[in-house]
Amino acid sequence: MTRANRPHLPMRPLWRCRACGAEWPCQPARLSLLVEYRDDRTALLVYLGTLMAEAADQLAQLNGHAPPENLGDRFLGWARPRG
Ligand SMILES: [Zn+2]
Repeated sequence: MTRANRPHLPMRPLWRCRACGAEWPCQPARLSLLVEYRDDRTALLVYLGTLMAEAADQLAQLNGHAPPENLGDRFLGWARPRG
């Protein structure tokens, strides 16, 4: 454990990671979510869908009312079960 071991949580309304500054969910955030929801992938997808809707609203306002285009991949693409 290092002092850099901060939780990777989103900073609203920018939806960048508080810990590493990457677009949220960053890689560490994805990993911890997969661990946290390892027994319930459906709940993870529901949770991410809720956050994605919130992010779409907030980012669209920052972005001159145009919602970002890649949010589906960014929030959900990595979390879908394989196969
Ligand atoms: Zn991060």
